[in-house]
Amino acid sequence: MARHRNVRGYNYDEDFEDDDVYGQSVEDDYCISPSTAAQFIYSRRDKPATFAEPLEEEYGYEARLNSCLDQMREVLAESIPEQAMVQAVLDTKFDVQKALDVVLSQGSKQNVKTKNKDAVILAKTTKGKTRDSQSARMESEIVPKITKMTVSGKKQSMGFEVPCAIAEENGHTNTPQKGLLPEDASVASGVLSPQVVQVSEEQNMVPTPAKKSSKAKPQIDVKAELEKRQGGKQLLNLVVIGHVDAGKSTLMGHLLYLLGNVNKRTMHKYEQESKKAGKASFAYAWVLDETGEERERGVTMDVGMTKFETPTKVITLMDAPGHKDFIPNMITGAAQADVAILVVDASRGEFEAGFETGGQTREHGLLVRSLGVTQLAVAVNKMDQVNWQQERFQEITSKLGQFLKQAGFKESDVAYIPTSGLGGENLVTRCQSSDLTQWYKGNCLLEQIDSFKPPQRSVDKPFRLCVADVFKDQGSGFCVTGKIEAGYIQVGERLLAMPPNETCTAKGITLHDEPVDWAAAGDHVSLTLTGMDIIKINVGCVFCDPKEPIKVCTRFRARVLIFNIEIPITKGFPVLLHYQTVSEPATITRLLSVLHKSTGEVTKKKPKFLAKGQNALIELQTQRPIALELYKDFKELGRFMLRYSGSTIAAGVVTEIKE
Ligand code: GDP
Repeated sequence: MARHRNVRGYNYDEDFEDDDVYGQSVEDDYCISPSTAAQFIYSRRDKPATFAEPLEEEYGYEARLNSCLDQMREVLAESIPEQAMVQAVLDTKFDVQKALDVVLSQGSKQNVKTKNKDAVILAKTTKGKTRDSQSARMESEIVPKITKMTVSGKKQSMGFEVPCAIAEENGHTNTPQKGLLPEDASVASGVLSPQVVQVSEEQNMVPTPAKKSSKAKPQIDVKAELEKRQGGKQLLNLVVIGHVDAGKSTLMGHLLYLLGNVNKRTMHKYEQESKKAGKASFAYAWVLDETGEERERGVTMDVGMTKFETPTKVITLMDAPGHKDFIPNMITGAAQADVAILVVDASRGEFEAGFETGGQTREHGLLVRSLGVTQLAVAVNKMDQVNWQQERFQEITSKLGQFLKQAGFKESDVAYIPTSGLGGENLVTRCQSSDLTQWYKGNCLLEQIDSFKPPQRSVDKPFRLCVADVFKDQGSGFCVTGKIEAGYIQVGERLLAMPPNETCTAKGITLHDEPVDWAAAGDHVSLTLTGMDIIKINVGCVFCDPKEPIKVCTRFRARVLIFNIEIPITKGFPVLLHYQTVSEPATITRLLSVLHKSTGEVTKKKPKFLAKGQNALIELQTQRPIALELYKDFKELGRFMLRYSGSTIAAGVVTEIKE
């Protein structure tokens, strides 16, 4: 029997908002009065003016100074007194190169010992070049360049993906997050105490020469800047989903190759290597399947990220693993996506295998919809295997269409494209073969991606970024990657990490491998952070605006839709809570009520159990503090999935946060 069969026949259109699965019903549930609702609606304009906004010039001055000093410290370490460095920066009007020359020429008299010899050589050899090329080279030396991002929630979420019964029996069976080890208990408990927040903020302040007590953001018109950016192209985050072996990696690898994102030499190398490994048919997949283990096993495990462009968009592509063991990684990828490509294998028997029992086609479709993806392109792939037959295409699209409608996708937001990932037909240009043109006149895959509607970006809300990866790169500080869910950030700003409730400075921002001064909601970025120990940060931590921190709790209430479950859910049921990049053991501590699917009215109070297909209000308790938001305030940070013993058992939205 197929998983989630219960959702067939489920009328999402009736139950939920047009554009969002859970929007309407949450509001209905609580009959929130306009005055109560007002407290949940964030508005930058309504903020009490506690801090005088510093002049843009003043702010930029300080940020530039700090940035210059950081770059100089890379070269000089602590060998030059800060005062001298500040003076040099000011004297040279913020030209790091010249400032370095000044202090080095002074220092050579005093025999300065530098931390990074190469950097000094670089600093010296770039002399005489134009300022831009000098600073570009400096930047490439000092600001770490991320060539490819990966969402490696794998380590954490895979660790948690143990049968829940065992997890409950043994308590917390997974490697504890470093920041929350017993010796850090004070930090953990401090998560909930505003006093401790202040103390730890103070302790973690990096001494900066031009320190000010408050650092409000200068008012940049982010929306206007966003429109100008990337030559006016919109950014879109795209996740590729589907059953293992459907051809996801091959399809996207080939698309990237045809777009010129992979050069001929590299492709030739992949062809030779894959041939040698006896896996010639995987050459295109190797463009995306980076790790040795992935290639060895022939499956994608992590979520790889790459960038490509269409005529009107810049796409961040996430290739999610199709194998069922890696669903938690797939959730991480999907939670960060705006739109999705669902790849299905058209070969006889293969489509059916992916669609029916144990296949990932349904589970993935349902997951992405529950995680907020509303637009879908279905690549009916390997059409070469069925001689581009129209009947087979129709058979597949009609079966899928029914399911996707029931999973909550609007018919007008789903497009079906016949493709061959291996042959490359209908990927970036329309296939000219008469086998296809005689019955298909629609878009090729690239045209379809280009025609996706750009999603709304919550740039007016306070800054939020959920950490997808954390790593040490060359240079001081460390890097985190993730999608900015709300707000915007500029280089030099201070950020609060929750948990562990500590602040740091964003020394650098990288977007699509390029250093940038600012980034906004919707952007997948890498932040270089200073003033905090890397050991404190884990996948799942949320970086936020210190003045508008995210809520942290271990107990919250939620409205859930129960998927197909074999045993009914009772009080005390252990689950794995997945949202964004978080994967955390939790317990359903209270069954508050069963709700009517369409009206949201309470049909039963304090039920003894919850059965498949039901809508219910429950209370959850997590093992460790987690950062989340009410769905009403931040849809992206208020929606989650519950899994049990390797299956997704419910999707939910946060309605009330307890302590
Ligand atoms: P993934 O697990 O969904 O990423 O699938 P892969 O991209 O690794 O592909 C699995 C296998 O299907 C590989 O042997 C590919 O060469 C093959 N494949 C992928 N796309 C096509 C296609 O369009 N036609 C044919 N005949 N084979 C394909």
